[in-house]
Amino acid sequence: MCCAFLWKNKTSSASGARVSWASICKPKKEGGLGLRRLEEFEQVFALKRVWNLFSGAGSLWVAWLQSNVFTRRCYWSISDSQRLSPTVRSMIRIKGMVAEFLCCSIGDGRASSFWFDYWTDMGPLIEGFGPHGPRELLISFEDKVVAATENGEWALPPARSQQAETLQIVLSTMNPPRSSRGEDRFLWRNGEGRFVPKFSTKATWQAIRETAPTVQWYSMVWFKEEIPRCSFITWMAVLSRLPTKDRLASWGLAIPLQCVLCSAGQESHDHLFFQCSFVRDIWAHYCGSSIHVPPLSLQAVAGIVSSHQVVSSPGLPSVLKLLQQCIIYCVWRERNMRIFQQSSTSEAGVFARVDRLMRDRLISIPPSSPSSPSPLLVYFRLPPPVP
Ligand SMILES: [Zn+2]
Repeated sequence: MCCAFLWKNKTSSASGARVSWASICKPKKEGGLGLRRLEEFEQVFALKRVWNLFSGAGSLWVAWLQSNVFTRRCYWSISDSQRLSPTVRSMIRIKGMVAEFLCCSIGDGRASSFWFDYWTDMGPLIEGFGPHGPRELLISFEDKVVAATENGEWALPPARSQQAETLQIVLSTMNPPRSSRGEDRFLWRNGEGRFVPKFSTKATWQAIRETAPTVQWYSMVWFKEEIPRCSFITWMAVLSRLPTKDRLASWGLAIPLQCVLCSAGQESHDHLFFQCSFVRDIWAHYCGSSIHVPPLSLQAVAGIVSSHQVVSSPGLPSVLKLLQQCIIYCVWRERNMRIFQQSSTSEAGVFARVDRLMRDRLISIPPSSPSSPSPLLVYFRLPPPVP
């Protein structure tokens, strides 16, 4: 339903889309819908395949790759070629990214590449030494770390460059490879930037995806007690992406701007959901000790929800956030009914719909603790008791 609404039932073209795909794919905290971009996931899976190749996950596929593809050339030095399968090519194309995640803890030095693997604090050595490195150190592109030792000690030719000197200093602080230390172990960068012997799909995705700042309003839209269809319309309303008349007019459509609910103001997001006398009458039913006057903006509702009085009342913040969503949802629905189906309900009728939605949702939610009132009771207490 959401995709059909956002993308006008067309997945082939983004023309006329209400919210861009990139925005939708942001996490909810960053203002999106929390969907995940396929391109980013394809990269994560390609990274995981490379991880399996290095960590020797013991699968037949890894054994097959090692004996059929990476026979004469290792992963790092093999070039992209049309004779390779699309899967292998997808792994080769992301070498640059792999270098940021993969490092090696040296054991016997027989598995890790001297030039390409991240096995010293200097990162992949080929980056510092460049293509002439193998000639300078007399270690070939294909050689493993063990090639830099002789009789169990580090053995490199005398340093002829600053890089080579630095490498010798770094190596003097590291134990040379020994068979007694077991095999080399490959490690993957996790969420905290530490290297661990395990691949995390989530942490890898977090590291490669495009990030955006956290939006202040996300907890007003997304919370445990939400009603998904109401959250969705509220999310669209917060982003000012619903096709209100002022927006349609800004796209060049010649339409009357008058609000169909009050017939007085011009229809915009702010008017429809907060300033319209119709919606203010609905809010007025709930005015009492928590809500003093109908709020004039989402920020005003957020201000009420975060006020000391509300925060210190168990269950009340969620009830107010839910109320906000239900009002936005029912008002938008009523507006559409009037425009597209020529049927209208009075303000009392829309209030009754909001009330029904609230009761139906809250009745299934237990109190947060045995001593707290049930959310439904919190809702009933919103308006002042009738004398
Ligand atoms: Zn109005």
